[in-house]
Amino acid sequence: MGLACFVCGLAQGVPPWGDDGKTPTFDICPCCGSEFGYEDATDAGVFRARRRWSERGYAWEDPKARPEGWDFGVQLQNALQKNG
Ligand SMILES: [Zn+2]
Repeated sequence: MGLACFVCGLAQGVPPWGDDGKTPTFDICPCCGSEFGYEDATDAGVFRARRRWSERGYAWEDPKARPEGWDFGVQLQNALQKNG
């Protein structure tokens, strides 16, 4: 399993769904604010969470974690490529 958040594509410190892909951490993504194992449990949930995030202007849940020069479009490509 990859390290990227299913919703926004941000690489996490540990795989959001565990090494086996079946054990979500239930952590909150510092970028889109999704809870792993909850919002991202289904494709429809991922889509909804991603749309909510876009409606908030791709705001960071934890603004302090946002890197300088961050680009949501580049990061989102991670999510779209890995998760369809
Ligand atoms: Zn995220």
